[in-house]
Amino acid sequence: MADTPLPPGALPPGTPPPAGTAPPDRPGNREDQQIHLTAVDEFLAWGKENSLFYLLFATACCGIELMQAGGPRYDIDRLGMIPRATPRQADLMIVAGTITHKMAGRVRMLWEQMTEPRWVVSMGSCANSGGPFSKWSYSVLNGIDKYVPVDIYIPGCPPRPEALIDGVMALRERVRRYRTLGVRDREPHVVAGADAPFGCHFPKDAPPGARS
Ligand code: SF4
Repeated sequence: MADTPLPPGALPPGTPPPAGTAPPDRPGNREDQQIHLTAVDEFLAWGKENSLFYLLFATACCGIELMQAGGPRYDIDRLGMIPRATPRQADLMIVAGTITHKMAGRVRMLWEQMTEPRWVVSMGSCANSGGPFSKWSYSVLNGIDKYVPVDIYIPGCPPRPEALIDGVMALRERVRRYRTLGVRDREPHVVAGADAPFGCHFPKDAPPGARS
């Protein structure tokens, strides 16, 4: 294939510019483009919503999807989400996996140790409602929202990392509203469109037969 001719004055790729040449003007390079005027509240909200530190724990297979979300393909770190191994330095709890009655008290204890304002994402059908175990297992809790207040529900067994990112984006909206308006949304948000073959989040008044 013939080489594409270069425009007049352009250097072949990889060629260093001649000495004394000013670097090319890129958007954001100029000093007047590096100043952004805003309110302090807006600035703090911007920082807060872009630095959600989540508690590093998972209890079952949804945790694998959570790990995948942190891997190179989805790279959830680019949203400012950094896993922390101690609840005292985390402001987001992602409940990823089955929670048994025995475990639920520990989850609550971890949540109580987190910094305020703290947020909770329930990831997957098990955390939402007990999932495939909700009907037949005596040991599985039918929803972590009985122990901690959940802000975002992500249906699916398991939800894909895209659904988790969708939930995080909805949570960031909440964080912004809280920081700028002081409004803490209490109505849980359910990520729509996620695959939910096993017991996604059911309304509290759903008939028992719906949980199958
Ligand atoms: S929802 Fe499905 S994938 Fe997630 S922990 Fe429960 S059984 Fe595992």
